[in-house]
Amino acid sequence: MSKVIVLTGAGGVLCSTLAKALAKEGHKIAVLDLRIEAAIKVADEINADGGVAIGVEANVLEKDSLVAAKLVINEKLGACDILVNGAGGNHPLGTTSNPFLEVADLENTTEGFKTFFDLDPNGIEFTFNLNFIGTLLPTQVFATDMVGKKGCSVLNISSMNAFTPLTKIPAYSGAKAAVSNFTQWLAVHFSKVGIRVNALAPGFFLTDQNRTLLTNADGSLTPRGNTIIEQTPMGRYGEPEDLISTTLWLCDDASSFVTGVVVPIDGGFSAFSGV
Ligand code: NAD
Repeated sequence: MSKVIVLTGAGGVLCSTLAKALAKEGHKIAVLDLRIEAAIKVADEINADGGVAIGVEANVLEKDSLVAAKLVINEKLGACDILVNGAGGNHPLGTTSNPFLEVADLENTTEGFKTFFDLDPNGIEFTFNLNFIGTLLPTQVFATDMVGKKGCSVLNISSMNAFTPLTKIPAYSGAKAAVSNFTQWLAVHFSKVGIRVNALAPGFFLTDQNRTLLTNADGSLTPRGNTIIEQTPMGRYGEPEDLISTTLWLCDDASSFVTGVVVPIDGGFSAFSGV
């Protein structure tokens, strides 16, 4: 059955792939993004391929902007059945320069060098807001369409670092842990009104967000990029397409008794102790 599916951050790498895959299943797609030109480009590609999609500008941190987007979506596509909370990311001000603190680091005066003690609360707050508040607000706005209906669900995007924090990115790790925790909380809270709530926990995918951390200008892997491959038993980065089958399953009535789960899609990263 065709559903109306709203995806936030769908002008980006991972969620544009999910939007296109969901459109191929016959669903009507609202591509939401802060970058309207990116949202429209994805919607145009879906429509050119025979699907039904609209690109809508929305800021997941501003409720008014989400309410305005919902009005457009309701008018053009109908009531929302499924919400994919894809907008998210990290901020450099919430990131340390080194994985481990060394005594000598306190004397390091190199410009831009950051220890734990230099982390900027604004960078931490930005990251917590984007990932957590940016999941909560769209759910408050779009799940009002779903209450008491059949076949509705919310799909959040968590991360590997929610299970075990990654070095250097305490804000992003903590914020994604909050997304996983919220996924469980909301699954319970919505259990009586027919809305299932689940999450994907992608492992490592080379996207614009992390490309400079993981690859050099010539395309070869940085030391951090190599460490990730060594810690991933399947020995490769994920491709955006690796997220499609789990997304289709969790958005479909085939998973009608599944709620509150966070599914790792990580080539075995979270199962591997490193030894
Ligand atoms: P991306 O940067 O390609 O896409 C994110 C999109 O969100 C962008 O199009 C951006 O414009 C949009 N966005 C940013 N702030 C917004 C706001 N305030 N309101 C609305 N839209 C906003 O990133 P991606 O790699 O496709 O990541 C998608 C999701 O997957 C994110 O939640 C990310 O944290 C998560 N994730 C990514 C990886 C990875 O390896 N790339 C791994 C685990 C989880």
